[in-house]
Amino acid sequence: MKLESIIGLEIHVQLKTKSKMFCGCQNGVEAPPNSAICPVCMGHPGTLPVPNKAAIDMGAIAALAINCTIGEESKFDRKNYFYPDLPKGYQISQYDKPIGVDGYVEVQSQKLKVKSRVGIIRLHLEEDAAKLIHGADGKHSLVDFNRAGTPLAEIVTKPDLRSPAEAKTFLHALRLILRYCNISDADMEKGQLRCDANISLRPLDKKDRFFTKTEVKNMNSFKSVERALEYEIQRQTKLWENHTPPTVQTTRGWNDEKGITEEQRLKEEAHDYRFFPEPDIPPLRFTKEYVERMRAKIPELPRAKHKRFIDQFDMDPTDIAVILEDKKLADWTEQTIGELREWLVALEGEGTEEERWERDHKRLVKLVTGWITTKLFKLMNETKTTSANIPITPENFAEFITFIYQNKINSTVAQEVLEAMFKEKAEPHHYIEEKKLAQVSDEDAIGTIVTEVLDEQAEAVATYKKGKHGALQFLIGQVMKKMKGKANPIIVEKLLKKSL
Ligand SMILES: [Zn+2]
Repeated sequence: MKLESIIGLEIHVQLKTKSKMFCGCQNGVEAPPNSAICPVCMGHPGTLPVPNKAAIDMGAIAALAINCTIGEESKFDRKNYFYPDLPKGYQISQYDKPIGVDGYVEVQSQKLKVKSRVGIIRLHLEEDAAKLIHGADGKHSLVDFNRAGTPLAEIVTKPDLRSPAEAKTFLHALRLILRYCNISDADMEKGQLRCDANISLRPLDKKDRFFTKTEVKNMNSFKSVERALEYEIQRQTKLWENHTPPTVQTTRGWNDEKGITEEQRLKEEAHDYRFFPEPDIPPLRFTKEYVERMRAKIPELPRAKHKRFIDQFDMDPTDIAVILEDKKLADWTEQTIGELREWLVALEGEGTEEERWERDHKRLVKLVTGWITTKLFKLMNETKTTSANIPITPENFAEFITFIYQNKINSTVAQEVLEAMFKEKAEPHHYIEEKKLAQVSDEDAIGTIVTEVLDEQAEAVATYKKGKHGALQFLIGQVMKKMKGKANPIIVEKLLKKSL
């Protein structure tokens, strides 16, 4: 029997607002346990929730960024359940009128090559519960209410995903959109993005229906989402092969250490929560103007940027994928390329400015991405520098690239210059002048040294003449050494060959 996997995701995203969802307490601060709290988020009698406008705006922006429709009216509802992490005994969420419905996210992974559209059923706003910390003794649990009442957006996908790898790719794409919109840092390890998955299998000849699904929880990294789904596929395949496919919806927890999912409880049906409209918050009404105002706040999203970087810069897709991971880095890179464009078209040369750009931009862009993804990343890693704090301006980085592009410095010297720019905020032309690092391409100057070296290294010369061409590298090395690494290696080689 051939089976396919049907996967849908429910994603909770912590919004980056200053205050909580329904009170003025600080949101997302590192504070001692149970200090960022107030009577509202602690659910004291007589308190009233006031929706946070910034959170609603962010919800609307997120919904629009994933192509959802925002209706004219949205409302909050109470979701009732009893649990120690829920001081009010209910959570304020949205039931039948979420802020956004019926969207999609386009997903294209380099590995999978195929482009697919993952449907979004809804995006709604709600408040988070407190955080439970279970003691190692198994007898005690502690509760930190700082997280209670912090704003969340919950995004529910259609069961459109067909493999664990695709689920991971989708999640990655969604996270990037949220980060680009500056709605959430969406770091899974920090719990800013949490993902539950629903998965069922179905025989390939029964594509007209769905079978009983299982919910998988407690995955706190992209890798664990993929692994948990892979495990579930194996487990459910065995059930199908034994003619006992799941018939009751269950919730299973992912155990990352053991690499298995474990049954937790039967899944609650919606009516178990006794949803009803939140009586203390009037419905939200959205005008067309409001929706357009929010839409205008969406920056160019990663997929559009990806396409543009190929169209305008002929950038290599692998480099793009790395650079677009981080919006600030993408902006910084684009500014650098903009500077280089100005420089290139202003250069004396054949043809019109456009023609010169067309002819030479690919090599320039490749130099930019090459130096960013290797040496600059290495320096950033070593010093734990984020893209928001790169100590080099795009102007200086562009100038640095022009020195390499024009062979004014070789790559060994370039590494030294970059390090000085990064660590001492050195300006490339000052540094190169001051340290006399400019590459020597003058044939007379190099020729003098070449003659010197040939005189001194009679043995190597003889070896070379016997046909051992490896000796040439040695001789090049000797010239470079005498010229403190500044000689243009191509000219050194040319002159050596001529004299030998
Ligand atoms: Zn509060």
